Amino acid sequence: MMEEFTGIQLIYKGLNPHLKLCADDRRCSLCGGRLIEGFDYLVDKAIGNSWTDTARQEAKDSDYLCAACWYMLKKQGKNAYWQNRNAVIFTPTVVRPLYTDEFSACLQEDFHEPRLFMLRAVGDSSVLQRHSEIQANHALSYRPEKIKICAYKLLLGDNMYLSGVVETNAPALLQKIAYLENTARHYIVPYIDAINAEKKGKDKWKPGGCRLHVMSKLRAAYLRGGISYGSPALSLAIFLAAYNIYPEKRKEGGDAP
Ligand SMILES: [Zn+2]
Repeated sequence: MMEEFTGIQLIYKGLNPHLKLCADDRRCSLCGGRLIEGFDYLVDKAIGNSWTDTARQEAKDSDYLCAACWYMLKKQGKNAYWQNRNAVIFTPTVVRPLYTDEFSACLQEDFHEPRLFMLRAVGDSSVLQRHSEIQANHALSYRPEKIKICAYKLLLGDNMYLSGVVETNAPALLQKIAYLENTARHYIVPYIDAINAEKKGKDKWKPGGCRLHVMSKLRAAYLRGGISYGSPALSLAIFLAAYNIYPEKRKEGGDAP
C-alpha cells in the first residue's frame, strides 16, 4: 500500500528519497501527516513562539512536528528541486522539474499515485518558494479528473497575479488551453507579429512581453464574451496557453531533459 505523504512531506521526500513514515499514529502539528521515521521534533522545541500562523496548522493539538515541516520552516535559501525551472511535479518516487511550457503536456498523463503539481513565478526567491511549499500541503492530486495545482504569484499581465491552489479537471483544463492557444494563434499572435514588423529593432515585444500581451488579450476577449474571468482554472489556462505559444528561453547547450 502506498504510504500517505502530505504535500510538504512529498517535497521533502524529493530531497530525501529513502524516508519512511512512522507506523504509529502520531501526527504532525503543521501538515497533519504521520511523523517521519527517525525524527521526533517537539513543536515547542522546534519552532518555539516563531510560528503564529495557527490557521495553517492541520493538527493543532499535536505536540509534534514532522521532519519535513521542521526542515521547511528552518531551512535557509532555496531548494535544489526547482533546478532553476518554474514548474515541478512530485510523485512518491520521482521529482520532475520542468519549464513552464512543458507543464500542460504532463497533465495529459494518466496517473494512479499521488502527484503534487507546482508552478511559481519567474524569479526564485526563497520567500516565494516557502509560500509554494506550505500551500502545497493542500495540493495533492490523486487522479486526472480532479487535480490540484499549487500556483504562486503567476503574472497574468496588467499587474494581475494568480496565487493559491487551483482545483480542476485535467482533461477540461487541457481542452481550455488548446482552445485558448488556437484563438491566440489565429487572432492575437498575427497582430503582435504585425506590430513587431512595424517596430523592428525595438525590444518592447520581446517574447516575455508578447506572452503577457497574449494573456491580456485573451482575458479581454473572455470578458467581452460575458464569461466570468473569476475562475482560477481559466486564469491558469490562459497563463499556460501563453507559455505554450511563447516558450521560455532555454539555456545554451540545454541542461537536464
Ligand atoms: Zn509535517
